[in-house]
Amino acid sequence: MNDKVYETTVIGGGSAGIMAALRSVLNNDETLFFPGNQKDKKKSRAMWVRKVENIPGFLDFKQGINNPNKQAYDYLSQEKYSHTFFPQKNIGITNIEKGEDGIFNLTDSSGNNWRTKYVILTTGMMDVQPFIENDIRAIFPFANSQAIEYCVRCDGHHTNDNEIAVIGHTSSAAWVAIMINERYKIPNLTIMTNGKTPEFDQETKELIELYQINVETKEIVDFLGDKKEGILEGFILDDGSIVHAQNAFVSLGVIVYNELALQLNAEVDKRGFVVTNEKGQSSIENFYIAGDLRAGIKKQIYTAWDSAVDSADDINAKIRRERRQKQLLEFREKKGDNN
Ligand SMILES: Cc1cc2nc3c(=O)[nH]c(=O)nc-3n(C[C@H](O)[C@H](O)[C@H](O)COP(=O)(O)OP(=O)(O)OC[C@H]3O[C@@H](n4cnc5c(N)ncnc54)[C@H](O)[C@@H]3O)c2cc1C
Repeated sequence: MNDKVYETTVIGGGSAGIMAALRSVLNNDETLFFPGNQKDKKKSRAMWVRKVENIPGFLDFKQGINNPNKQAYDYLSQEKYSHTFFPQKNIGITNIEKGEDGIFNLTDSSGNNWRTKYVILTTGMMDVQPFIENDIRAIFPFANSQAIEYCVRCDGHHTNDNEIAVIGHTSSAAWVAIMINERYKIPNLTIMTNGKTPEFDQETKELIELYQINVETKEIVDFLGDKKEGILEGFILDDGSIVHAQNAFVSLGVIVYNELALQLNAEVDKRGFVVTNEKGQSSIENFYIAGDLRAGIKKQIYTAWDSAVDSADDINAKIRRERRQKQLLEFREKKGDNN
């Protein structure tokens, strides 16, 4: 066991994690950083994001999260930050508990133990993938080329004048289709439930009818288009019929990576996102949440940044307050001695 108690530990190296580390180091707080091992990284949203078009200055990056994050990581790895930045490259956290002394004890993916006063957890979430050809991987070439997308807020504008499909069977999927219809000119919009019974509420049912959105309930058995190049032309259904689409959005819900928060019994909402105050502190004192994992905020890069800054700055305020009180006490004692 390493007995040293670090000030702040950031768990996760996506948009929220790198911003939390950057802010914490620039605030001059000792920062231990676990960006995750290869397995953690593979299942993160950061890994899947290609071109980011909704943030100024990001358009030139091929991988809109990983490329700028690497830039920030390299910047923090300079000698001048070596006394504050302690990165544990390719390492994740598997266990967390809080001792009676208020210190968090962490176990990493290599089996090492660490101690820290504050934690910022940023492990995020992942979109549920559809099973096509009995395999979730079938969709990956199209996701990589951005023919198939997951975030209508980020990439809805790619739909202009195309035929569009939305894969999903709940009211959330219906709202994705409704939003696309209301924002962009869509000649042909289809919700594909992929063999599932639609679960649309009354309002979405009515809007689907009003906007003449097609609903296709047959199972998808294959893609139409060029799998190698990721060019989508449509979907082949189990009866051999075809739905033409040059773009599709997946709306099947998300898996929330809240395991470490649950180990501490932190409060989560009914979808599994971790509930926090406005600074990002969870129901566990000194345990903060930033990025997609935090309940009640948009699941976007700029909100990940903002929530990370909230958390790092609140921790810094606590650290400064503690130091200030200690110094004041010493100062008063010394002054008293001199009188
Ligand atoms: C296809 C796609 C396109 C998108 N496009 C945009 C866009 O254009 N603009 C936009 O604003 N938003 C976009 N988003 C949303 C954006 O990706 C997320 O809002 C953002 O990634 C959230 O950041 P995060 O740090 O919370 O989570 P993530 O980026 O998912 O990062 C999670 C991190 O946690 C790490 N991790 C997981 N478990 C552990 C563990 N046990 N220990 C240590 N580390 C761990 C992972 O390695 C990873 O580094 C898109 C999302 C998707 C899926």
